[in-house]
Formats: sequence, structure tokens, C-alpha cells
Amino acid sequence: ARPLADPAALLERRDASFARVQEHYYAAPPQIERGWKHHLIDMHGQSYVDMVNNVTTVGHGHPRIAEAARSQWSLLNTNSRFHYDELVRFTERLAELAPDPLDTVFLVNSGTEAVDLALRLALTYTGHDTVLSVREAYHGWSMAADAVSSSVADNPKALQTRPNWVHLVEAPNAVRGKYRGMQSAPQYLNDLDGDLAALDDEGHSVAAFIAEPVFGNAGGVLLPDGYLTGVYEKVRARGGLCIADEVQVSYARLGHHFWGTEQQNVVPDIITIAKAMGNGHPLGAVITRRDIADRFALEGPFFSSAGGSPLSCRIGLTVLDIMRDEGLQGNAEVVGGHLKRGLEQLGERFDLVGAVYGMGLYLGVELVLDRVDFTPATAVAARLCDELLLRGVIVQPTGDFKNVLKIKPPLCLTVASADHFLHALEDVLGELAG
Ligand code: PMP
Repeated sequence: ARPLADPAALLERRDASFARVQEHYYAAPPQIERGWKHHLIDMHGQSYVDMVNNVTTVGHGHPRIAEAARSQWSLLNTNSRFHYDELVRFTERLAELAPDPLDTVFLVNSGTEAVDLALRLALTYTGHDTVLSVREAYHGWSMAADAVSSSVADNPKALQTRPNWVHLVEAPNAVRGKYRGMQSAPQYLNDLDGDLAALDDEGHSVAAFIAEPVFGNAGGVLLPDGYLTGVYEKVRARGGLCIADEVQVSYARLGHHFWGTEQQNVVPDIITIAKAMGNGHPLGAVITRRDIADRFALEGPFFSSAGGSPLSCRIGLTVLDIMRDEGLQGNAEVVGGHLKRGLEQLGERFDLVGAVYGMGLYLGVELVLDRVDFTPATAVAARLCDELLLRGVIVQPTGDFKNVLKIKPPLCLTVASADHFLHALEDVLGELAG
């Protein structure tokens, strides 16, 4: 076995060699050495239930992925200009999963790349100049993906510094937003009409609307009923395209649905996916209509060296096989339902719990100081996460106020581990209340 480095010394070395902009979880993070299913194990052998890892969908250390990677590496891995079977099988599989009429796939290496490409597709196809994006969203770090991101938790100056081609619309947060309740879509759509009229007056034209179909960055908040139907209609009436950023919430995580857009009963023009597709291997995709892809092709070729490599496609196919063979979407529905009921019961007992969001295994717990103004309990959320770590659970806050526990574990989570988390949370909430 390799000698274990002193964790404090290793953190210092990390700060010296690794750019400090990329934060790690916790002030004194456990040094993780191993993962197995939905568990992480640190250098001292302490095991944690991983309630936050939405990338490792089929679980850590899956032997079928390890074997697929090993055998593909020894057979072939090369850039995607070559012709090989894995790419065809993977793109066919993704196109089959996508709703009609989305039938054409681009393969890239991350969610950021997928969003960046989706925006370029829309701007090229429409020839229009403006992209609409909802506030409090996160879509990635490249110039274009960052431009449509406005989460102030990630960038405190976000609202003042978006470029001219981005127009932010109200965050459709049915729980803590400007309008509340699942029936609040008409009010948000009314505001959108005002935005669109102002853009018309300024001579701008809408190329695209981009949003997560379930508000993942705010903690898994379901959009008001009919919100996306209304927005998509208005955007399409102006010749714009609708982009569903499914990077976080889709790919079976919602349990009841494979795609987040199914929950809102809409079909987008462009889907972006990443994270879950590769179970941690860098993999992303854009799925769209053939005419949108063909219009982009007229501008010149698109090429991503490792996007769609034999290895990436083989891993992507294996992830889908595992999800099917192990019934992980069904497990997300059953275990997620159990977990959500448990969280709601804690909400009935503890005032700190302002709301419980989401479905399947994308859930959120909003921690508030009062339930009328929803004053965010930001410091308490941070403390609660530290306390949960001591009880063997890894979970983290999200949202503009960093007060929503984001719960998005590997989809193989068991009822027993969900209960372990619920008991630990109950214990900590009791301590904080007392
Ligand atoms: N879109 C959404 C909705 C995301 O949550 C993220 C990552 N958190 C991204 C895009 C960017 O993905 P990546 O980190 O793979 O570049």
C-alpha cells in the first residue's frame, strides 16, 4: 500500500500547486481514499454516506465500469475523427432515449462544453442576438456558459456583469421567489412578456432560452406548473430555441422521469447532459434536431479530440447498461420517495426546515430562521454539514444563500443508508434546536 500523507500537509501542498479558485468541501476536509457504491472511505477507514455526489450515478468503484475501461484502453482509445463502433452505438442509444424529434448527438467532455455548444447552435440557427437565462442559475465556467450563469453564490458580482447578449429573467422559484406557489406560472409569464416587449423595443431578437427543467442550482425546486410550456411558446413565437440544461437533474435521477423536461411536459429543441453520463469519467453531450445540427455544420466542422472517444463511449454505454440492469431509475423513485417523506416529517418537527424540494434522488432542504420571510439560515447550514460529517454523512449547501442542503446521492442509495442520514439529521436538528 502507498504511504499515507499527513492530511494537513497535503492541504498545504494542494494550496501551493493547485489554483485556489477551485474550492473543496469543508474547512478541514476528510482525505478520501476510496469509494464503494454510495459510500466514501477516508484514510482512517471512516466511512461516510455520500449524499452529494450527482456525478457518480451508478455508485463508486463499480466493477463493470472498471472492467469496461480496462478492456477498452487495451483495445483502442483514440480521437473521434476515426470510425469505430462504440461511437455509433452510444449516439444511437442517446438519440433513442431523447424525446422526438431530437435525433442528433454531439459528444463533448463536460457540462460546460455542452452548454457552450448549445448556445452556439442556437445563435447560429436563429441568427438572433439575445439569450434569456433565469436568475440564480449555474451553467458552467467557459466564457459563454458563465455568461448565462447568474448565481450570486458562485459570483457575487454576477447580476451586474453579464454581457449584453444575455438577458436575465426572474428566477421561477415557487417556494421563495417573487411569486409563490405551484400556480404562479401566469405571474412569471406576465413578467416575461414585459422582458420580451422591452427587448423588442431595443431592437433585440431572442436566439434561445436556457434553464434547468427542475431548478437544481436552487436545491431541486420544481418549476411552477405550466411554466416551461408558457416560456417555450413565447420564445418559439419569436423564432428562438429552447435549451434544457439537464446536466444535473436528468438521466434517471428524478426517479419518476428520465428527463427533467418530462416533469413539465415539454420537449426542448436542445438538451445538454454531462455528469451522470460518465459516472465521473469526463463525458458530455448535446442532443438536438438534425436541422439545427446541419445549420451549424454549414459554418464549419466541429471537433473535440476526446469528445466521443472509444473509451468515453464505452463508459457511457456501460453506465446506461448498469442503470437498466440494476433498475436505478426505479430505485431513485422508491428510495427518493422514502427519503422525501422522512425529510418532510422532520420539517413538521423542526422550524429550521423551511421547505423540502425535489423528487427522486434530487432533493433539497431549505434551512430558514423564519418561515414567513424565509430568512436564510446560512451559518446554521454550514454548521449542520460539519456536524453531519462527524456522524458519517457528506452533504453540502447550495443556492444563492448557501442554505439549501442539496441531496443528490448515487442512485444506488439504499433505504438503510437513507435512514442513517435521516437519523443523523434528526440528531443534529435536535441539538441545534435545543
Ligand atoms: N449545467 C448545470 C446545470 C450544472 O449544474 C453544471 C455543473 N454544476 C454545469 C452545467 C457545468 O458542468 P461541468 O462542471 O461538467 O462543466
